[in-house]
Amino acid sequence: MSPPLSISSVPPPVVTVVTPVFNEEAVLPELFARLGAVFDAHPAVAWRAVLVDDGSRDRTVELIRAHAARDRRFELVELSRNFGFQSALTAGLAHADASDAVVTMDADLQDPPEVIPALVAAWQSGAEVVRAVRRSRSETGLRRFGFDAFHGLFGRLSDYPIEPNTGTFGLLGREALATFNALPERHRFFPGLRTWIGFKTADVAYDRQERAAGQPQQTFRRLVRYALDGLFSFSHLPLRALTYAGICIALLGFAAAVFYAVRRIIGIETAPTGYTTLVTVVLFLGGVQLIGIGVLGEYLGRVYDEVKRRPNYVLKSTSRTRPADAAVSARD
Ligand code: UDP
Ligand code: MG
Repeated sequence: MSPPLSISSVPPPVVTVVTPVFNEEAVLPELFARLGAVFDAHPAVAWRAVLVDDGSRDRTVELIRAHAARDRRFELVELSRNFGFQSALTAGLAHADASDAVVTMDADLQDPPEVIPALVAAWQSGAEVVRAVRRSRSETGLRRFGFDAFHGLFGRLSDYPIEPNTGTFGLLGREALATFNALPERHRFFPGLRTWIGFKTADVAYDRQERAAGQPQQTFRRLVRYALDGLFSFSHLPLRALTYAGICIALLGFAAAVFYAVRRIIGIETAPTGYTTLVTVVLFLGGVQLIGIGVLGEYLGRVYDEVKRRPNYVLKSTSRTRPADAAVSARD
């Protein structure tokens, strides 16, 4: 992008709303209306909406295509089949790479579009990453339990804990977006990566709504898979747990050996001959085997890190003036 020539010619920032959509024909009309209303109410921003169809089998594509023809701010990106939410989101973010900022949100209006201006305002006051934090959650029952259990576990295990009340809804500035798009890993867990990339982060509180219409499209099985992606791609603790368990069991075996030996020596051992040896050997060998697996796990964890090819660091800036900045300051 060439540097602006004067203040008056500075174009409005391009903010793209990226939304994965899967079988959402029931909510789309309301989504279009509410997004459009938000866009119209804030003309200082050049709004775009990228709706990523994740292989829907209903009239989703048709509806988006028709709306995109009516309103040029809306765009359809179609995947060849259902790849799942995280993949659809990745596709949308890659497609929106020319934006100054992207807003990520669900299509089902659980993330109300009316919050978007607050996200943009937080970005304009200097945050590079903005997370929408829910004050309340509308899920109940098994889903609620699953979410709570996952966040509890993730908070404890992960090296990069995510704020428990955040999900996809939020905003990434240009640098954060470029960093995210450059990540080569395949198993993507968006909230975790958003924490991992760093940058100045701001939170905006909102009330999570009920789904506007239709049924949840994420199956429970898929949510469990994301949860596992999240845990395993941000923590080696499950592997390390084997080593710890092995050490504990081997120590137990050792303690048992001492215990039975002492009993035999002072003459109170009554068990048939061979029992003591058996218990001790089984415990000890079990422990040693687990330690062995744990050690393999340590290597596996490192191999996994290397294979992920996640960069070692993310640069925010350097003190050296960029050529573009130099050109601007040379003129004024
Ligand atoms: N979604 C998707 N691909 C899928 C499943 C869901 O793109 O395979 C989209 C869906 O259309 C919605 C968002 O992901 O915009 C969240 O899905 P849902 O509301 O079903 O999940 P939950 O609210 O239970 O997390
Ligand atoms: Mg939902």
